[in-house]
Formats: sequence, C-alpha cells, structure tokens
Amino acid sequence: MSALTRIGHFIGGEVTDSHDGATMPSVDPTSRAAWAEVARGSAKDVDRAVTSAREAFDAGPWPRMTQNERSALLHRFADMLLGHADELALLDTRDMGRPLSLTRANDVVRSAANLRFFADDARLAADVSLPGHPGHHIYTRHEPAGVVAAVSPWNFPLMQATWKIAPALAYGNTVVLKPAEQSPASATRLAELAVEAGLPPGVLNVVHGTGPAGAGEALVSHEGVDLVTFTGETRTGEAVMRAAADGVRAVSFELGGKGASIVFADADLDRAVSVAADAAFSNAGQICLAGSRLLVERSVYGRVVDLLVEKARHLRLGDPREPRTEVGPLSSQEHHAKVTGHLRRAAGEGAVLLAGQAPDGWWVAPTVVVDAPSDAAICREEVFGPVLTVHPFDTEEEAVHAANATRYGLSAMVFTSRLARAHRVAGQLRAGNVWVNCFWVRDLRAPFGGFGRSGIGREGGGHSREFFTEAKTVVMDVG
Ligand code: NAD
Repeated sequence: MSALTRIGHFIGGEVTDSHDGATMPSVDPTSRAAWAEVARGSAKDVDRAVTSAREAFDAGPWPRMTQNERSALLHRFADMLLGHADELALLDTRDMGRPLSLTRANDVVRSAANLRFFADDARLAADVSLPGHPGHHIYTRHEPAGVVAAVSPWNFPLMQATWKIAPALAYGNTVVLKPAEQSPASATRLAELAVEAGLPPGVLNVVHGTGPAGAGEALVSHEGVDLVTFTGETRTGEAVMRAAADGVRAVSFELGGKGASIVFADADLDRAVSVAADAAFSNAGQICLAGSRLLVERSVYGRVVDLLVEKARHLRLGDPREPRTEVGPLSSQEHHAKVTGHLRRAAGEGAVLLAGQAPDGWWVAPTVVVDAPSDAAICREEVFGPVLTVHPFDTEEEAVHAANATRYGLSAMVFTSRLARAHRVAGQLRAGNVWVNCFWVRDLRAPFGGFGRSGIGREGGGHSREFFTEAKTVVMDVG
C-alpha cells in the first residue's frame, strides 16, 4: 500500500477522486521524493466542478444571502485558517519548499487577512444614486457575476488562492479553483475548511491537474464559467486569454515581472542593500514582484556590489522546515534546471556570477550577477530564482530609461534620500507597484497589477469589486 498522502478534488462539498482514477505526484523539493498522490483532473472532472458551482450560483443560498451573512461566514472561514495555520503552512512548505517560518507567519496570516478584508469591503461598499432627472430615480447595483474560474500559481499557493477566492466569494460568486500542479495540497484543505466554516457545498470547488490539455485549459474554456482570474506566466496568460475569448469571458491577469530597483548615491546604502537583497532572494527569488535588476549610481556601484555579495553569502540555505532557514530549495527539478540554465548561459555571455555554495539538491545559491550585457537573456527574461543582476548608471534619466526597458511592468523600487527625486522617478517608472526605500508593504485597498505584459486589470479593494461583479444601472419612472 502506498504511504503517500492522498489529495482529492473538492466538488460539491466533498473530497473526490478523478472520474477515471488518474493521479499525479506532488514532489517535496527538499527530499526530491513524492510525498502526495494527487487527483489529476480532466475535462469531465472540471465539468462536474463547474456544474456544482453553477447550481450553487443559480439556485443555492450563497448569492441570495445578505451581505452581512456572507461576510460573517467569510470571517469564520478566516478563523478556521488561523486555527489550522500549522497544518496549512506545512502543506505549502512540503509542496514547494518555501521556509515554514514564512508560510506560517506570513502566508496563512495574509490568507486570513484576504478573507477578512474582502468580507468587510463587500459589506461596506455602496452603490450610487444619480440625481438630476425629475420624475426619474436612477441608481446603480453591483451584482454577483456568476461562476468564477480561478487559476493560481505555485509560488505562494495558499496566499495566491485566497487572493482570488476571497473577493470572488465576498461579492457573491461561486468558484472553481485550479491550483498549480506543483503545489496542490493546501487548496483541498482550504475548501474543506470553507465547508466546515459554513459555506454551502458547491460554493468553493477545487479541481487539480495540469495546465495545457489538462484541467486548467478545460476550466478556462468551459462554457459554464463567467469570469477568469489567472495568475501565472505571461505566456500562459496568452493561452488563457485565447480560451476565454470563446464566450467573451472577462479576464483578470496577474502575470510575470522583471522588476528594477534604482539605487541613487544619496540613498541610505545599507538599508537599500538590505531591502534589495530581500526583494531579490526572498522565497528563493520566486516572486513575481522580485527586484531582479539593480541599477546603481556609478559612484557607489563597487560598494553596493560588495555589500550585496556579502549579504547573499550569509543567507542561510537549508531545510525549509528548520526555523532558521532563509532560502529553501527551488520548487521543482524543472524549475531548478531553468534557473541554473539561465546562470550558465549568462556566464557564457560574459557575465560574472558572485555567489556562495548551495547544498546538494534543488537549491540555488543567491547570486549577484555583474557585467552582464544589457541584451543578455538574464537581464531581459524573468528568471524566477535567487538571481540579481547589477548595472551601473550615470544619470537619473539613464536609470529610468534602463528600468523601463522591459516589456513587463509589475514592480519597481527607488532608493534615495531626496524627496523630489523620489516622487519624480516614481512617476516616471512604468510599473503597477513602485516602492520608495522599502518593499513588500501592501494595502489591500490599493490597485494591484501590472503595466504591459505583467497583466490585465487591477485587483484590490474596489478594483476587485468591479471585476467580480456585474454593474447595473436602474432607471425608474417615479413621476
Ligand atoms: P504558470 O503560468 O506555469 O502556471 C500558472 C497556472 O496556470 C497553473 O495552475 C497551471 O497549471 C495553469 N496553466 C498552465 N497552462 C494553462 C492553460 N493553457 N490553460 C489554463 N491554465 C493553465 O505559472 P507558474 O510557473 O505556476 O507561476 C510562476 C509565474 O507566475 C511567474 O511568471 C510569476 O511572475 C507569475 N506570478 C505573477 C504574480 C502577479 O501577481 N503578477 C503573482 C505570482 C506569480
């Protein structure tokens, strides 16, 4: 008998196998061995899940509850997450190698915060009355849109899933979630907890499987789906958009990035290096928002490189379950091959790689890359590993131009002590999120998304409400 943990789909309030019994392994990147056997869904399983979500939307209580009732259940759901924080954190760490200290203290807490924030946002949101038409009363309504397909990536499994399902549910929709095949475990547990918290069966469904020609593609192509929210690679976004075009389904996309950080000589350099290293190496660089290109004013370039290399060499690599570990293994063998391939190619193109030693396995040592030609792939493509290229610049204009020389536009950072320069440069950077002398700080009311190939639309606060509801205008003759 297999000792592997079994993880099923979650459809209509129950854990279930695939209709044909198909499974796929989930591999623990620390041990490099399969730890779970996961249901591998196909079009039939997706159809079951969408049918369940459709029935829950068309005839179930969820979209018909008062907003206060829905919000109260979502707060209870958030309580359940926090009550199962250790268990949920360990599932993500086993699936994709992120340090347990972070999945526990950051991701589960943020996931609960996602649910609470949208529960409150939906409760507090108001519609408008449009006066000025004697004899007529004109007002707006925001109504649940229907069945939401949510397709999520592996880099913050629980956090990314809740960032999608929290607004979808809060505004009265029902959901089919397709988590990444590399990190499926927390999603099924999440859906079980939703039902334990009192959400009606069918409101949140989970189907596991692969993307192209698998459950992902079947879900975003399914005619019973009304909206598609997707986070993942830009190239995948193109495929999802083509699929969603049939039936004219709205899409919200959070895609790849190639964030630049600009360090001016007038910045607090120790702080700049500390923040920039965190932005490049945290989660082993597997962050869409990562600052993966560092542009440094020439007069302080040498000093910043030295400080960065020192910092990179002192990060603790190891077993992500160890509390002191700062950098875990990359999420999969395939991803490890991709990142190390980028580094080999960069070295072949003349770049110099400055890094410490990585343990045997799927770790990559945090690496500072200097002297890479600006047209090298490592400077242009999303590496999604603990890799930071560093480039000198001479003028503010040159720095802004270099930062914007990418088709992506998700994140950017500026380090300076001059207020006017901070505002000026923040205004010139073509990115959806600009941090000045900091990183990570988020307000869930703020628009989140990317310029260019980093996404379509914005989520967060009222932006999520606009996407996850259908706005309606009612004009009434009261004359
Ligand atoms: P991915 O695009 O490979 O996969 C994402 C999800 O899409 C997975 O669930 C996958 O199974 C599914 N999928 C793949 N092909 C599909 C298809 N044809 N139809 C439907 N679904 C399909 O991305 P990934 O490797 O899991 O995640 C890393 C990427 O996500 C990086 O590019 C990163 O920048 C991006 N990301 C962006 C944000 C953001 O907020 N902008 C956040 C996190 C991650």
